[in-house]
Amino acid sequence: MAQQEDIFKKVVSHCKEYGFVFPSSEIYDGLGAVYDYGQNGVELKNNIKQYWWQYMVLLHENIVGIDSAIFMHPTIWKASGHVDAFNDPLIDNRDSKKRYRADVLIEDQIAKYDEKIEKEVAKARKRFGDSFDEAQYRATSARVLEDQAKRDALHQRYQEVMNAEGGIDLEGLKQIILDEEIVCPISGTRNWTDVRQFNLMFKTEMGAAAEGASTIYLRPETAQGIFVNYLNVQKTGRMKVPFGIAQIGKAFRNEIVARQFIFRMREFEQMEMQFFVKPGTELQWFEEWKKRRMAWHQALGFGAENYRFHDHDKLAHYANAATDIEFKMPFGFKEVEGIHSRTNFDLSQHAKYSGKKIEYFDPEDNTSYTPYVIETSIGVDRMFLSVMCHSYCEEKLEGGDTRVVLRLPAALAPVKLAVFPLTKKDGLPEKAHEIINDLKFHFNCKYEEKDQIGKRYRRQDAIGTPFCVTVDNQTLEDNTVTLRYRDTMEQERVNIADLRGIIEDQVSITSLLKNLK
Ligand code: ATP
Repeated sequence: MAQQEDIFKKVVSHCKEYGFVFPSSEIYDGLGAVYDYGQNGVELKNNIKQYWWQYMVLLHENIVGIDSAIFMHPTIWKASGHVDAFNDPLIDNRDSKKRYRADVLIEDQIAKYDEKIEKEVAKARKRFGDSFDEAQYRATSARVLEDQAKRDALHQRYQEVMNAEGGIDLEGLKQIILDEEIVCPISGTRNWTDVRQFNLMFKTEMGAAAEGASTIYLRPETAQGIFVNYLNVQKTGRMKVPFGIAQIGKAFRNEIVARQFIFRMREFEQMEMQFFVKPGTELQWFEEWKKRRMAWHQALGFGAENYRFHDHDKLAHYANAATDIEFKMPFGFKEVEGIHSRTNFDLSQHAKYSGKKIEYFDPEDNTSYTPYVIETSIGVDRMFLSVMCHSYCEEKLEGGDTRVVLRLPAALAPVKLAVFPLTKKDGLPEKAHEIINDLKFHFNCKYEEKDQIGKRYRRQDAIGTPFCVTVDNQTLEDNTVTLRYRDTMEQERVNIADLRGIIEDQVSITSLLKNLK
């Protein structure tokens, strides 16, 4: 674990050092949980967004995109339930003055039991070798059974408290924290305040005060922009249920505890899709979208073992199924995407609050209904973080040297090809520019002439550039260059005319989409 945390720290400083992510307003000492993307970060981020958009919108005939405004009519957030219920339960430690999410403290405690059990099992596996019967061990080991019983009891109690009549039982939450003897990681004490609810929406004013300014909110999710445009899109696009509307955009949440770099930000970006279906078919579609979204993640080639589904213990009152896709970050399996079966809650609420009829007339059986909705919602920044964490690699080379290489899927890499003149003279820079001028229409190229070739390779490895080309004196004679591959570091002599053919397919988003069929 310590080693993993170490890697996470390295990823964070790598992101800064190589122009991926900077703390926002850094020269003013930063702004909590707000970050800026640098010259390489923005390219990687755009590629992630393209991969999502092309899969969702281009490959699905019945999904279209929109781009709705961040500012919306304030009643939308009343209708959606966010004004009354978009809260997190917070608790303070009186000694450290640190603030925590009470639910997260308890979930971490459950995870600790799980870890303990897994450690026991791993130890036994090692001890018994080939003859190890895991199922039998789990069913009979006194230690495992004891921990499992404690874990299950805690889990059960937590569920009851979170799903209490009339909303979360705040006193019950605190009691669990006291009974489990959970301590503040900073002060090490159990001197906790009561648990309070805290609304996560940012407010601002629209219009000058004298004219009667109204309070509006920065949207905490992009989904509502889709719901309130359901009729517009369905009618103008002549969409037939089942169909989906996709959107990528910023969302804002005044998170209580901002931790783990870009994992939890106050301003972030979401890629959401609402899929409108006939009532009664939603659970089939829920399963279908679980499969499709998991396949999208796995097509990046990071290994199936690094993903898992985590079904929700606490269902929002309007949801009838919900799961998260979790990715193995250096700090454990964490949610990257949520998939929710939201029933017809949102559309019905907007119909009620706006007074407009929001229904679908189904020509197949001459009925009208309010469609049910399956939502897939993924954070661009969390996806970015998972890609960075998985790709970051420190490699020992022959001769004792080390290199840091970002093994990004080539289609996501910020720069696809770097072109180096061996020296700054003899017309080599001009030749290098000529190559770039030809290829830059097809993919992102970068010119580099500073430092020795070895150093230039390292710099490109560190930002994940899959291909480098060196132009030397022989190039001027026979139009060949040395092509060097990031992952294997192999080099070969190729014709300039062949470069596009070798590189283009491998670096295009299409290459990823083809993994998906
Ligand atoms: P969490 O439980 O981690 O707060 P959530 O369940 O509230 O997340 P959703 O409302 O389902 O998250 O949002 C969908 C997705 O948006 C999440 O899976 C995540 O990728 C992203 N997301 C949500 N909150 C943040 C945040 N503060 N910073 C970055 N990404 C976020």
